Amino acid sequence: MICYKDLHMTDLDIQSKIEKLREEIRNHNFLYYTKSNPIISDEKYDGLLRELKELESRYPLLMSADSPTQKVGAAPVKGFITVEHAAAMLSLDSALAEVEIREFDKRVKRLLGDGDIEYVAEPKLDGLSVEIVYENGRFVRGSTRGDGYRGEDVTQNLKTIKSLPLLLQKIDGIPQFLAVRGEVMMSITGFDRLNKNLAQNGQAMFANPRNAASGSIRQLDSKITASRPLDIFFYDILFQQGGRQFSGHWEILKTLPQWGLKVNPNIKKCDHIEDAIDFHKNMADERDRLDYEIDGVVIKLNDLVARRQLGTKSRSPRWAIAYKFEPRREKTKLEDIVIQVGRTGALTPVALLRPVDVGGVTISRASLHNMDYICKLGVKIGDKVRVERAGDVIPAVTRVYKKERTGDEKDFSLPDKCPVCNSVVIKTGAYHLCSGGISCPAQLKESIKHYASKNAMDIDGLGTKLVDRLVDEGLIGSVVDLYKLKPEQLKSLEGFAEKSSQKLVSAIEKSKNRPFNRFIYALGIKNVGRHLAEVLAANFSSIDALLKETSKDKLMQINEVGPEVAQCILDFFANDRNLELINKLIAQGVVPEKEDVAIENILAGKRFVFTGTLTKLTRMQAQDAVKKLGGRVASAVSAATDYVVFGDNPGSKLAKAGKLGVSTISEDEFLNLIRWIKGSDITDIRYTLKTIIY
Ligand SMILES: [Zn+2]
Repeated sequence: MICYKDLHMTDLDIQSKIEKLREEIRNHNFLYYTKSNPIISDEKYDGLLRELKELESRYPLLMSADSPTQKVGAAPVKGFITVEHAAAMLSLDSALAEVEIREFDKRVKRLLGDGDIEYVAEPKLDGLSVEIVYENGRFVRGSTRGDGYRGEDVTQNLKTIKSLPLLLQKIDGIPQFLAVRGEVMMSITGFDRLNKNLAQNGQAMFANPRNAASGSIRQLDSKITASRPLDIFFYDILFQQGGRQFSGHWEILKTLPQWGLKVNPNIKKCDHIEDAIDFHKNMADERDRLDYEIDGVVIKLNDLVARRQLGTKSRSPRWAIAYKFEPRREKTKLEDIVIQVGRTGALTPVALLRPVDVGGVTISRASLHNMDYICKLGVKIGDKVRVERAGDVIPAVTRVYKKERTGDEKDFSLPDKCPVCNSVVIKTGAYHLCSGGISCPAQLKESIKHYASKNAMDIDGLGTKLVDRLVDEGLIGSVVDLYKLKPEQLKSLEGFAEKSSQKLVSAIEKSKNRPFNRFIYALGIKNVGRHLAEVLAANFSSIDALLKETSKDKLMQINEVGPEVAQCILDFFANDRNLELINKLIAQGVVPEKEDVAIENILAGKRFVFTGTLTKLTRMQAQDAVKKLGGRVASAVSAATDYVVFGDNPGSKLAKAGKLGVSTISEDEFLNLIRWIKGSDITDIRYTLKTIIY
């Protein structure tokens, strides 16, 4: 950290320092997001950004709207204003058949005279079309396509897209005024991740990546937009004043990236229409390998003068055509809804459809995700529905044709018992889960893997693949069977020798006396993670006590157990299958050990990282508390971090923790953690802390 006070920097020095930093960061953004070719590590990059943020917060007068720090979103707006486009954003005529494309070529030749016509072919990106305006190389405005002439001003939201440069690269030929057309996209992986998050938080999901991109750009709170995985590809100049003049479209596509505007890499200059038709065939094959959605190929005349000669019809130009792929959505009847119990116990409603050909694949089942999705669609059994298939995404029901109802349609509701093991179904966020856990056959493999995992019973050598094999070969049908395994049985498995068989059996044997808290965690009770398992272990003297004394009252007395978790625990122990399984484990000699952890070392081995400003105690106090309790404090987040504690205005560490799946806790949660450890009353945080620290 540099201390500027001591350096006696003049205002000008600071200004030039800030400018230099901005320039450097912009350059790295360009290399990373546009060129996909970063030259510095993420840590170094974060360091530069942090330094800039710090300077800007010290010298607010030097703040600038085009600073790279402004890509995090601004204050929410009440609504969007409508803005006029610099030039009309036309739509394209589209065709599905090869013969229509040849006819298009013939029409062009009729108007321009014979001889081969040069075309440029590009993928037809299935996202949200936007106009982006630069003045003197500076991003000033962005709007949705709207009706083609006017759209919504979504400048603040567009700013948050990492691959959209706020300043163009400083090279010759940049127009003073430049309006470019681009497509805002969301990757298929980003879309899946987003939907999963939304579902977990009980929020409505998006039907496809296009809707997700559009919904994200039309957010009133740009901070939400900033959190969404959006990307942008540019593909045309709508209008320009000054700067380099172009004679062909291909030349434009080759120049935009030099200015910092990302162009889709799958583009082709075609000597004649047959080339473009070939390109369409190739892209149709390529389509499933792309991580974003395209729904066809756009074929445009390369020669810009010839384009002007051809002109436009009322809404679409004569010089371009969209050659679409076979549609991947069809209408069919939803005949029934069945429940699938997933590996982790989630109950997924699956639509059984009257089989229908969707883009060359026969579809008879489609995911309905969860109950919220069903409610949002308003779908009933017997409805006519639209089914969509995109990339590698599982087919989904995306629309209900409610006007076509006959009155015979039936409402659907989820069963309250697991269809596989008859255990009670519990609701967590948008999901319904089977509470059977370790004793539900649908969750067998997953629960054995969990039971054997490092933080649970820690059975050395019993990994994912081996569990799959043992279950598939019929050697184990529950965790109890693990303890009955004989080396002779294992030797029959391919690749298992005398020594390795012996080794596994003794590793299983060793797991019989793991600490009590690990055993509780190993049971895979829904919503009971490692930490809560420790809490329960501290509050119950033995398995016996857990089995006999668990009551709602007793659980609710424990500081960290809320009503939802308490219900999960009660459901688990009310389940005869689970009780039977635990008793069988005990009969096999599984005796978890109750360990008395000294209070002083309760955070032993735990790594903490702090980010942002704490309000109730100083960073130093918090760090001291961790160290006093045997934990460790690190400055950077890695996969080895156990907790990231965040205060106000957290930095990039928080996002990184999210990416790595590291637990993030607020200051209050951190205080809670320490308070629980101390075993003291809730009353006086400061007092408790004081006794820990000093
Ligand atoms: Zn079940």
